[in-house]
Amino acid sequence: MLHPDRQGKVPVPFITAWSGERVAVRSLTVRADGAGIGYRDETPGDRDAHGVLWSRLVEAPGEGKPNFRKVHPVRQRRALLEGLCQVCGGSAGRTSRGWLFLLPRPGGDELSPGWPEGKYGTKPPVCVPCAALAVRHCPHLSEPVAVRVRKPRPRGVFGGFHAPRGTVLSAASDDGYLPYGHPHASWFLASQLVVELRRCTVVDLGAEAG
Ligand SMILES: [Zn+2]
Repeated sequence: MLHPDRQGKVPVPFITAWSGERVAVRSLTVRADGAGIGYRDETPGDRDAHGVLWSRLVEAPGEGKPNFRKVHPVRQRRALLEGLCQVCGGSAGRTSRGWLFLLPRPGGDELSPGWPEGKYGTKPPVCVPCAALAVRHCPHLSEPVAVRVRKPRPRGVFGGFHAPRGTVLSAASDDGYLPYGHPHASWFLASQLVVELRRCTVVDLGAEAG
């Protein structure tokens, strides 16, 4: 679902976080076994299939103001795992070549052979109409490359380590990438899913959009 901003002009992407979607940090604590972090009132939905704890953000898209620099962790993860368009939240439309991703053009004039096979990223796919609109209306996307990806494979998460400091639990690292299976994953709070782009094909967005 698209939420227009206050002026009703710019559609706010599905994965964008809103100021009304607050973080529930106060319930973050050291687990009873002392071997990592958890929530006081943790539910199975707070961890992903790899047992990594995810940051909690209320889901209330449309509440307050959109923060275009911030991604909502639940919607970002859902979009990547379920093949939802990061802009409109509808199906990203899989073809025989996979899901459509818009990637920043790498440096240099020519795309190197095989690019972007094996690259890691956090941006979910897009549907063809939203991709066409984004290319037209988002000046920061200078000449993005349209790529279809058959297998976006979850490889890890983006977020930060937390550690007890006295009686409080606080951030113990800058945000960064944590691969699944990391020995200290139990102290990590995830905010975005990271996938590896596998079986990629560079496509002509203009031709796809007709
Ligand atoms: Zn869309």
